[in-house]
Amino acid sequence: MPKDQYTLSDPTKLYSDIEPEKQHQPEPGLDTKLDPKADLGEDTYRGTERLKGRKALITGADSGIGAATAIAFAREGADVVLSYLPGEERDARRIVRLIEASGRTAVAYPGDLRDAGYCRELVSTAVAELGGIDILVNNGGKQIYNEDLTTLTDEQFDDTFKTNVYAMFWITKAALPHLKPGSAIINTTSIQAYSPSDILVDYASTKATINAFTKALAQQVGPKGIRVNAVAPGPVWTPLQVSDGQPQDKIARFGEQTPLGRMGQPAELAPAYVFLASAEASYVLGETLNVNGGMPTP
Ligand code: NAD
Ligand code: MG
Repeated sequence: MPKDQYTLSDPTKLYSDIEPEKQHQPEPGLDTKLDPKADLGEDTYRGTERLKGRKALITGADSGIGAATAIAFAREGADVVLSYLPGEERDARRIVRLIEASGRTAVAYPGDLRDAGYCRELVSTAVAELGGIDILVNNGGKQIYNEDLTTLTDEQFDDTFKTNVYAMFWITKAALPHLKPGSAIINTTSIQAYSPSDILVDYASTKATINAFTKALAQQVGPKGIRVNAVAPGPVWTPLQVSDGQPQDKIARFGEQTPLGRMGQPAELAPAYVFLASAEASYVLGETLNVNGGMPTP
């Protein structure tokens, strides 16, 4: 069966043959070392000029959901600035090549999202290199499981909030003065915002914050013609999951709790970001688009 987002196929069967075994990578994990490989849509995504001439900034764009989104945006006609950690250069290079192969500009600007200075420079670099920004995707994120709050270090709590929440605030604050009417901000939240796991107390708390931030800001900047939305993924096969995002004995059953009975692939997430970024979503703001295999959400 073809694996793409165009062929009519049974969603319970699509990708159901992807069955990873236990594996571990140091944080941040690399897509290039993921076994089996995740589908970023690199062989399948077809653009239809929905983002022609647009200028996008994506954090966590080297791998997983952010990389699939970067590929899709480029094939829809957008130039892309990619943020990621310096240790992820190998993954990032691959995505840069794929963006360039679709005839678009890719600007790689690695750095640490926990650093407010880097977040501001990221925005000024994007504006200088692309001549502006009209799509901002706050997607970079940190997820490290912890089974007992009394052992959750202050450092981890701080890092998770800095990466997932503060960076979104710093980058959005710096980007807003550059966003013209018609621009879109998309934040990556999670099913964890509503259905938090016992072992993801810090992470789930950041994701609930991202949802509230999205809905509050959408009302604030909606009158200026700027749309703010979120995408809430469910269990998706990315390096985050094998670099202590969860215990390794859960990997084999990852996603089986969803009504589709399987985990999702980054290629299944990218179209949600394309929709929210495009003018097709002109009346959609303050929304959280759940892409989670069917788990109920409020
Ligand atoms: P991923 O590991 O491919 O992407 C996360 C990216 O965040 C990394 O590639 C890295 O570039 C970036 N990042 C992390 N810490 C950083 C730092 N200090 N400085 C700069 N960049 C940093 O995994 P993914 O699953 O594609 O994650 C993307 C987003 O999706 C995250 O916000 C994650 O919370 C969210 N999400 C993932 C799942 C899932 O099951 N994979 C589910 C719900 C939400
Ligand atoms: Mg990565």
